[in-house]
Amino acid sequence: MADHYVVVGNPIAHSKSPQIHAAFAAQTGQNLSYERLLAPLDGFVANVEAFRADGGKGLNVTVPFKQEAWQLCDALSERAQLAEAVNTIKFEDGRIVGDNTDGVGLCRDICHNLQQALQGKRILLLGAGGAARGVILPLLAEHPACLTIANRTASKAEQLAQRFQHYGQLGASSYEALAGQQFDVIINATSASLSDALPPLPGGCFAPGSLAYDMMYGKGLTPFLLFAQQQGSAQLADGLGMLVEQAAEAFCIWRGVRPDTTAVIAELRAGLC
Ligand code: NDP
Repeated sequence: MADHYVVVGNPIAHSKSPQIHAAFAAQTGQNLSYERLLAPLDGFVANVEAFRADGGKGLNVTVPFKQEAWQLCDALSERAQLAEAVNTIKFEDGRIVGDNTDGVGLCRDICHNLQQALQGKRILLLGAGGAARGVILPLLAEHPACLTIANRTASKAEQLAQRFQHYGQLGASSYEALAGQQFDVIINATSASLSDALPPLPGGCFAPGSLAYDMMYGKGLTPFLLFAQQQGSAQLADGLGMLVEQAAEAFCIWRGVRPDTTAVIAELRAGLC
């Protein structure tokens, strides 16, 4: 009998997670099924409970339910607790156990796949929504020289900097106040790219040799990556690797085995072209 997993969201039809987990299962010889589950906006908890009652083993959670998932869990990893967002749930000994694998996924993509060490780097994180919250602790765990959070609504960046202040060198900024500063790694965790918009980042922020990373992925360069290219950023990356790496971490939590991600990233990349 295969073990059952789902990814819950609304909308969910676009999700590539079933393809990713099917590839992981084939590669590691794990007997599991993984499907999409569309939950109504007011029906997240009911759908999770029904899935659990049906014998489901665990699930991934995506927009807009990550915070609701955090509230639902009986036990949380430290990174999920601090992020106040859960993207991976495991049903274990009658409990709902939550984790957030987005940050580990981002760090593995940058440090391992893109071969960019974060230690000692000046990192700028754009955005203060769910995705940004999920990556702060894992980014700080890489011991950057500093991590600056900039957000359109600057007060949200300040709240985040306060919440994580004991975990590393952390600051908050408005976009305007970034003028004249330079960073080695700039990560776009805003949803601006979804509407083909560019966060209002002043010119001159990309240090020589810098990495520009957009969590959004797709065919071609996002407005942020185009801007970074014009600004002379040395390396451009989108969030496809992060997507696969966060899935690999979830797979490892559920199955106790870490799949190799290289071929899966390449397969998805080919599918985008
Ligand atoms: P949220 O809705 O929680 O947060 C959106 C953030 O973007 C807010 O900080 C908001 O600022 C900011 N923002 C929106 N539009 C603009 C704009 N035009 N200019 C400047 N800032 C803007 O979204 P999420 O955090 O959940 O997702 C953010 C992005 O990350 C999405 O593109 C998502 O697809 C991607 N993502 C990718 C993952 C991957 O595995 N590759 C995983 C998770 C997310 P304000 O507070 O002022 O409104």
